[in-house]
Amino acid sequence: MHKSIVLLPGDGIGPEVVESAKCILDAVASACDHSFDYATHAIGGAAIDQFNDPLPQETEAACKQADAVLLGAVGGPKWDQNPSHLRPEKGLLRIRKSLGLYANLRPVQGFPELLHASPLKYDVVNGSDLLIVRELTGGLYFGEPSERRDNGESVVDTLAYTREEMERIIETGFDAAMVRKKHLTSVDKANVLESSKMWREIVEEKAKDYPEVTVEHVLVDAAAMKLITNPTQFDVMVTENMFGDILSDEASVLTGSLGMLPSASLRKDGFGLYEPAHGSAPDIAGQGIANPLATMLSAAMLLRYSFDMDHEAQLIEQAVANTLSAGYHTADLHVKNGTKLGTKEITEKVIDFI
Ligand code: ATP
Ligand code: MG
Repeated sequence: MHKSIVLLPGDGIGPEVVESAKCILDAVASACDHSFDYATHAIGGAAIDQFNDPLPQETEAACKQADAVLLGAVGGPKWDQNPSHLRPEKGLLRIRKSLGLYANLRPVQGFPELLHASPLKYDVVNGSDLLIVRELTGGLYFGEPSERRDNGESVVDTLAYTREEMERIIETGFDAAMVRKKHLTSVDKANVLESSKMWREIVEEKAKDYPEVTVEHVLVDAAAMKLITNPTQFDVMVTENMFGDILSDEASVLTGSLGMLPSASLRKDGFGLYEPAHGSAPDIAGQGIANPLATMLSAAMLLRYSFDMDHEAQLIEQAVANTLSAGYHTADLHVKNGTKLGTKEITEKVIDFI
């Protein structure tokens, strides 16, 4: 199959990890007889430096033409003092909005070799493997007006959703549950929030279309606790924007490493933007030691969700798992024994396994 992929390396370690993931995609293409072509475009701080805009028009246009987008990371201290429209993060918010990417998928899977680095007890996190489905374009982060009033003595943030916005993300949750363990946890705050009451009604309605899926409703405060005390009870969790933001950062602790977590931001038709969950790590940029595995796993999600290449996605995931179990790791991973490798070297190991 022939596909075109836009690469948005961004800032900090972004270019290094995206280059690694591109090598992995090439290895998969030659192993499975596909051809991928790539176009690289500027976003974030790099785009501000070059075009005075965190999301240049040509970048936006290229993403719209592509079959999928792979992003590294944006941001860094260099642009921290910029006015808000010239902040690197603005480029990311704008591209998500412009491409209509409303479903954020974050798998949280613990690799056995890394679990000892989790601050949680090994027996609690061992076997945890869950998927958080977060709404990405509505709720508190986009409600209007968000402002200070009465000479700064009071503030307003609005949590607004339409039925349609809730329906589509809840469906994404059910669809994800169908291809996993057919167990869906819907997270809300229905004892307090009107938006959550409507959310719960829609979940109940949709459940009728998915009779094979068992559904449980958990209040967000209880979900936060259970994620730490008994994470293996969860498979797919679906929730609104801010709850998902908080819970997915919390869940990342289960795996023992930020450098291992991929993510996908999707639209209904399967188009998506894929990126590691970690940031641009400016403290280690350019040193050749960044961990590229989260970006490789994001590339695996790209193959699975945008190109319908499940076998090819599994090739990458298995190769990453094999690389770790063979004792290879990067500096950020707290592994006692084994061989510490740089970005390029560990990429070669993963390619060998592919
Ligand atoms: P953001 O605000 O963009 O989410 P952040 O403040 O959460 O960023 P990160 O950039 O993710 O921070 O980095 C947090 C720490 O983890 C840093 O010390 C960084 O060096 C380290 N780190 C993050 N990602 C990686 C990686 N892929 N490889 C190695 N170290 C990493
Ligand atoms: Mg962060």
